[in-house]
Amino acid sequence: MKRTLVLLLTLTLLFSTLAVLSSCNKHECTFATEWSHDDTNHWRACVGEDCVEISEKASHTWNDGEITTKATQEADGVKTYTCSVCSHTKTESVSFAGMTKDEWNLIIHPNNFKNYTLDMKMLIVTPSIDAQFNSSLIFKFTEDATYMYAQSAGQTSEDTYESSSMDLAADIVAMFDYDNFTYDAEAKLYRAKGKISIPWDDSEPTDATIRFENGKLVEMKYSYTTKDEDSGLDMDFDNTVKFTDYGTTVIPNL
Ligand SMILES: [Zn+2]
Ligand SMILES: [Zn+2]
Repeated sequence: MKRTLVLLLTLTLLFSTLAVLSSCNKHECTFATEWSHDDTNHWRACVGEDCVEISEKASHTWNDGEITTKATQEADGVKTYTCSVCSHTKTESVSFAGMTKDEWNLIIHPNNFKNYTLDMKMLIVTPSIDAQFNSSLIFKFTEDATYMYAQSAGQTSEDTYESSSMDLAADIVAMFDYDNFTYDAEAKLYRAKGKISIPWDDSEPTDATIRFENGKLVEMKYSYTTKDEDSGLDMDFDNTVKFTDYGTTVIPNL
């Protein structure tokens, strides 16, 4: 019993001595006002020379993070989190999740249709070529109507029309409503998810798509079949609207 007590006292004395020697090098620690940190923790270090004492060590308190680089179809974006205590930051990659409705409506607006071409591929399906055409059907291309009359069933005509010769912008914009499209990440374009209607016709386009590149609107495509009421001709249209005026079609904040 007595021997055990002596051993305990000796050990206690030994540890106390070690603790004093290893702690503050015989000075009272003063901790820095600036935080030190690694990727996991932050702390305040003693300013004393050769002193390794630290205080207030804790893991970071990350905020909700903010998008510091916006993701596009072509490249992931960056989200940056900041520790609310020490201001240390960490980043994570964010993939493109599609545009907001506000962004979409800013870009796909008639005012932005300043420099585009419409590549129109038309196929006449029904063989009743002698019938009289209603020129108003042909998107106001009255000067080109003669060309269309000359087509025979099964023939395909292809033409490119400059934007300056047409007044289609508002109609096309109405067709490409945000709520009717969904982002196809694999194809890197937006695709019509349900029925959409062409404002100047009763037809419903199939496979309407819209494509952005580096945050800029570059292409809208839509295909549809329509019947001319007067002539009874069935026609397949395969239209591509290409944009070259990138400055007016860029996703905001890029
Ligand atoms: Zn110290
Ligand atoms: Zn921190």
